[in-house]
Amino acid sequence: MKKFAKTKILATIGPATSSREKLEAIIDAGADGIRLNFSHGDQNFFTEVFNLINLICVSKSLPIPILIDLQGPKIRIGQLSKPEVDLQSGSLIEITAADILGDEQRISTSYKKLADDAEPGDIILIDDGLIKLNIIEKKKDSVICRVVEGGILRPKKGMNLPGMKLSTESVTEKDFDNLEFALKHRVDYIALSFVRAASDITSLRKWMEAKGFDKPIIAKIEKQEAVENFEEILSVSDGIMVARGDLGVELRPHEVPIIQKKIIKRCNEAGKLVITATQMLESMVNNPVPTRAEASDVANAVWDGTDVVMLSAETSIGKYPYQTVKMMNEIISNAESYYDFNRTINFEVPIEIQENLFDSMNKGICSISRQINAKAIVAFTTKGNTPTRLSKFRPNAKIIAITDSFDAMNNLNLKWGVTSLYCKDISNRNKAALEVRKLILDSHLVEPGDVVIYTEGGVKISNIRENWIRFEVI
Ligand code: PGA
Ligand code: MN
Repeated sequence: MKKFAKTKILATIGPATSSREKLEAIIDAGADGIRLNFSHGDQNFFTEVFNLINLICVSKSLPIPILIDLQGPKIRIGQLSKPEVDLQSGSLIEITAADILGDEQRISTSYKKLADDAEPGDIILIDDGLIKLNIIEKKKDSVICRVVEGGILRPKKGMNLPGMKLSTESVTEKDFDNLEFALKHRVDYIALSFVRAASDITSLRKWMEAKGFDKPIIAKIEKQEAVENFEEILSVSDGIMVARGDLGVELRPHEVPIIQKKIIKRCNEAGKLVITATQMLESMVNNPVPTRAEASDVANAVWDGTDVVMLSAETSIGKYPYQTVKMMNEIISNAESYYDFNRTINFEVPIEIQENLFDSMNKGICSISRQINAKAIVAFTTKGNTPTRLSKFRPNAKIIAITDSFDAMNNLNLKWGVTSLYCKDISNRNKAALEVRKLILDSHLVEPGDVVIYTEGGVKISNIRENWIRFEVI
């Protein structure tokens, strides 16, 4: 069974995990949330998965947050006239906006404005950078390229245009269609791929607000422009994904580690969710054990301060999804036994006074929890704000959210260090406190003799803010 870990695991669902049995297995192994990647799979497939997740939530009485990942302006090559095309280094190839079946001489692209935006000298990468082309000539609706690094081309492979300023929209028709579909089921987080500027996030939020939804938006940082505009993007996003896969193609692999560390640090300071993604246990797609380098990568992301580590191919198409999640949970638990809870984080202080009071209160509680060696901070919550804020200050104590809201439980399940328990009536605190004591003992989150702090977010009455904090030796 799952070990209690503070850093959360987000597992991508695909053909390898779309049966009830496989889904339950990865939840049991320690997956805290599910990612539905709308770059692959159709709505029929996802309808099945939505239904299964909800069934499992009910049967196991567990929150299982769903993050939907929108493809954004991801560029692909088109269909080919045969399953494989062998591109020889040094040869010439035309890339066209026309809808054709590609071959050695000519292939199509989903990016219709390529010829407008490209310049001779620009680089085109295909299939995670395995194939490299150099643009030598621009025509009206196509570009002619020299094959710098040849290889086997397969249909619909991803295409990256590193550094090129693209004039595509950031949220496509397909994204809106998928989002609308997903919102009819359940969405706890929305991730947007290939974000370039803060306005990509704000326009998505406006669209959602007009439909009456308010969901946290995660900006995927995987382009040079996003790295350059990171601060503005962070300020309007609810969280960030370090999308190392495309980031290592749009930039270069050796640039990824520093960007990862900087992003995690800034998210920790701002108290925003950060997900470290891609190739974390990649070799487990085919093997039952990871490489030692991968084990170290996961541990280092934990020590950097990531909230969430993500699995992609490992759980969506891999041979060993259960073993991968179990292994990840073990690496995290071990790494956390060596976690530096005293590392300095320059927490951002909110400017608005009520927010500042709320922030300082929770910072204080975390500080007290350290001094008295509390095992848990139990927070009564309806929207999940208090546990989220406590999570910002990275206490050693478990953060236990007590709530009557399934939405809050799902949202909180991806937050660092937070476990949530359902309690039907939290309005009567004294009555609830007795029930909660039993709940946290029965779930083995605390043991007799442990010191526990209880708190609640705070009541705002005009310009007065009231918070309470109580202590108990269980
Ligand atoms: P993807 O995003 O899996 O949707 O490509 C993550 C990444 O690029 O790392
Ligand atoms: Mn990507």
